[in-house]
Amino acid sequence: MIRLRRASLPPDTSARLATYTEEIEQTAETDRKATAAALWAHTTVRRRVRDGLLSTLADMAPGHQRCMYCGDSQGTDIDHFEPKSLAPVRTFEWLNHLLACAYCNSNQKRNAFPRSEEDGGPLLLDPTLQEPLDHLRLILPVGTYRGLTPQGDACIAVFGLNARGVLVDGRRTAYETAKESVELWRIATDRGRDDKAAKIVRVAWNRPLADVLAAMFHQADHRAADLLFAGEEETLGLLRDRALRAAFLSRA
Ligand SMILES: [Zn+2]
Repeated sequence: MIRLRRASLPPDTSARLATYTEEIEQTAETDRKATAAALWAHTTVRRRVRDGLLSTLADMAPGHQRCMYCGDSQGTDIDHFEPKSLAPVRTFEWLNHLLACAYCNSNQKRNAFPRSEEDGGPLLLDPTLQEPLDHLRLILPVGTYRGLTPQGDACIAVFGLNARGVLVDGRRTAYETAKESVELWRIATDRGRDDKAAKIVRVAWNRPLADVLAAMFHQADHRAADLLFAGEEETLGLLRDRALRAAFLSRA
């Protein structure tokens, strides 16, 4: 999961969402869940809002339309952050929409929406509102996450971030590839090949599991970086290079 910026919707999509929200709000409270579900499933309704939602979410998503939760698979589903069964009036609310892969949406998250016992706040992270790096620490050489907060723990559990072997193996590969990218950037830059260096940055962020790249730069700046990168001193040196950091971290 990486921090994302929420974009603006096409005006006609926004207007239609507002109309459907109003329709749900005007329904008796006991019928809202059924009304919201029926509207969302309705072919015409979906056709009217789906393209605008999907194309805007795809532009916001990491890499080539990757899932906003696992960062690995193609994001194909409009996910309701707060499930429509629990918050029917938010079914057509733009701020409640994220892009998820079918696996994260249908197999992992489903209707899960854990809340804090202390203050009742959501325990899942919304990457358009929160910085996932504050809640999740990636153990880079191993490819698994450690929760730094109850929200981090909840995301690991609900999305199976450590239980899905394909994600853990993928992150290990992504770490090796990302290390190569920073080395190649240094070489290209030293040779005055700025065009090539810029391409290396673009390609690096467009790969699946870009959370690994984000975690690398974040951890190189950590006070315990020497420990976190034990045995990887060369990589740490590169990641601390100010010009290199600026080139990779100014992507947005
Ligand atoms: Zn996913």
